[in-house]
Amino acid sequence: MHLSGKAVVVGLFGDPVKHSLSPRMQNAAIAASGLDAAYVPFHVTAEQLCDAVAGVRAMAIRGVNLTIPHKEAACRLVDEIDPHAKMIGAINTIVNDDGRLKGYNTDVLGLQNVLKTELGVDLAGRRVLLVGAGGASRAALVALGQARAAWVGIANRTRARAQQLLEDLAPNFPGTTFAHYQLGPSLASASSEPVDLLINATAVGLRDEAFGFPICACLRAGGAVYDMVYAAEPTRLIQEARARGLVAADGRGMLAAQGEAAFQLWFAVTPTAQVMRRALDQDE
Ligand code: NAP
Repeated sequence: MHLSGKAVVVGLFGDPVKHSLSPRMQNAAIAASGLDAAYVPFHVTAEQLCDAVAGVRAMAIRGVNLTIPHKEAACRLVDEIDPHAKMIGAINTIVNDDGRLKGYNTDVLGLQNVLKTELGVDLAGRRVLLVGAGGASRAALVALGQARAAWVGIANRTRARAQQLLEDLAPNFPGTTFAHYQLGPSLASASSEPVDLLINATAVGLRDEAFGFPICACLRAGGAVYDMVYAAEPTRLIQEARARGLVAADGRGMLAAQGEAAFQLWFAVTPTAQVMRRALDQDE
């Protein structure tokens, strides 16, 4: 890496931050594009976030990604928020234009892109079962509504949280029908027709857990499964999907796609295709 005095700095604020894969994939894309820039991980605690965001302005850092625990709190520290990020109530990217900070949530575009490129799913008119009702689900719901999915069912362990998510977000998407369910064995019979796509936006699978019932029974033949979780080995959900002959992909594609969207916002350059994804797939 050769940085000049005009080098552009971007980075990541998080706590913890040292296990993040973003520096690896962003710096690979910076190198492939020949940019005079660097992506730096910054360990920022919740108490330090306000000072750190002031530092973005003071040091003319071009932008940062935000990870746990800053995505919601950072919304209060920027000058403007992209409409999708505002709906979600969380930002994962800040762009600094001459001291004016704008927040975005690139998970929306990241998910839409990866469903198209990795699973060949065009969301318009589709029936989708979204599992989970946390931050990742909020972004997924906006991605599905914005892409005009016909029907979205949300199933969560704590059903009240799924209901709340719909009360918050569903009115933004009058073209999509929504329903909420208890996550459990009765799910397949509860939703009236089989779905085209199942998205796992829970933490189930991070530590080799399974849902404990055949969740892929909700899908039609030829349907697709997207597991936002990524692990060294295929998750139990991905194994179940493939055993049923369904197409399935894990969360690395979304991680790369949200990173590509952030890169594009900071540098106004499309990162070289597959560079971020290949960087994620490389061993340490
Ligand atoms: P979050 O806000 O903490 O929400 C966690 C969700 O997981 C909730 O719906 C929770 O249900 C559910 N859950 C946790 N343990 C469960 C269990 N044992 N059984 C059933 N449900 C369980 O987290 P998040 O930010 O939404 O992230 C969710 C997952 O998506 C994480 O694994 C994260 O790594 C992944 N993610 C991936 C990407 C990507 O780029 N690939 C991006 C964002 C997130 P309750 O409401 O009942 O607690």
